[in-house]
Amino acid sequence: MKVLVLNTGSSSVKYQLFKMPEELVLCSGTIERIGDTEARIRHNSSKCSVDKPLTIPTHKFALKYIVGLLLDKDKGEVQSIEEIEAVGHRVVHGGHTFKSTVEITSEVKSKIKELFTLAPLHNPSNLEGINVAESIFKKAKQAAIFDTSFHQTIPLKAYKYAIPNEFLDNHHIRLFGFHGTSHKYVSQKAIDYLDNKKAKIISIHLGNGCSISAIRNGESKDHSLGFSPFNGLIMGTRSGDIDHTLIFYLVNTLNYELDEVKSILQSKSGMLGLTGFNDLRDIIAEAKRGNKKCKLALEMNAYRIKKYIGSYVAAMNGLDCIIFTAGIGENSKLIREMVCSEMDIFGIELDEEKNNKSKSGILEINKNNSKVKILVIPTNEELEIARQTFDLFK
Ligand code: ADP
Repeated sequence: MKVLVLNTGSSSVKYQLFKMPEELVLCSGTIERIGDTEARIRHNSSKCSVDKPLTIPTHKFALKYIVGLLLDKDKGEVQSIEEIEAVGHRVVHGGHTFKSTVEITSEVKSKIKELFTLAPLHNPSNLEGINVAESIFKKAKQAAIFDTSFHQTIPLKAYKYAIPNEFLDNHHIRLFGFHGTSHKYVSQKAIDYLDNKKAKIISIHLGNGCSISAIRNGESKDHSLGFSPFNGLIMGTRSGDIDHTLIFYLVNTLNYELDEVKSILQSKSGMLGLTGFNDLRDIIAEAKRGNKKCKLALEMNAYRIKKYIGSYVAAMNGLDCIIFTAGIGENSKLIREMVCSEMDIFGIELDEEKNNKSKSGILEINKNNSKVKILVIPTNEELEIARQTFDLFK
């Protein structure tokens, strides 16, 4: 079965075409800056490689362009559009409704729409991707894979907020958890690597969005992102944990409009708000040049992660393994070093030499005698989505 995986963001589409169950990647690519005059396509397959600027006004146009590449007579991967039997869509927020991967129906789409207010940066574009894919791949089955599903095993005492009961009972206000596809994929890799199904794992996903998960027996037990993908760690543009009374203060005392506060906390805070830079590579380079704001932001970032590690060790009464994953986790030796420094109380001991190595696949970076294994595991949310889509329709 050929399964197309789509991760549709507000201005980008990431895609991979898989042959399942062989898990063979036939092609992959990204279209970035949709709606901008400087959109760019990067497409790779065994037959061709494309990397060029072009004008892509809409998501529909983007998907049609991708289909054009897939169907290309000489360089394409399929001869007819019907060969793609299933499309798997990443959907960020599944709320309390979606506990697992589902086939997309009109009812599913309206439920995803109802959740727009909970994930305003993600769910609208995810649904746009679904609508566009339905109009193009008319015969293919479509599946929604939710970032929240993996966290359904978090116990009540961890997902319930200490606010009046009616808010959970009547309005489903609770911690949901995100990046579940990534945490599931890398923790399963770690379980296989450790050969220990019961391992107590802390999985740290550090990309533009950042989150940390406590995982035991292969199940999510607690998570740093909550009701929406906002809480917890310091992210690219999101503040993570704050005292919520500062929202009242900004509105009531400093006279900000509520929408402005939302935009400050979601899009102008985090590493961007602290440094003026969004990309961690720039922040590290600046810190090396002596930029004090960047140095402090890196320290704050690592400190926040350390605090979560401590609380999750307590929550699980132990720790066997820490995983670093996603853009920053996989690539930033510095952040890994800062997070793991002075953590020997928990049996976490990083080996600097191993941390400086690069390797495809799993990289073990702890000292030989470290009680806790520290693993760098490249995430592969697309493969996890392809697996779940295939399992649903095979
Ligand atoms: P997304 O959440 O958009 O999927 P990614 O997982 O691709 O994000 O991570 C993107 C982030 O990874 C960028 O903001 C960049 O700061 C960071 N990154 C990528 N490579 C490196 C590197 N070599 N060193 C430090 N940070 C890196």
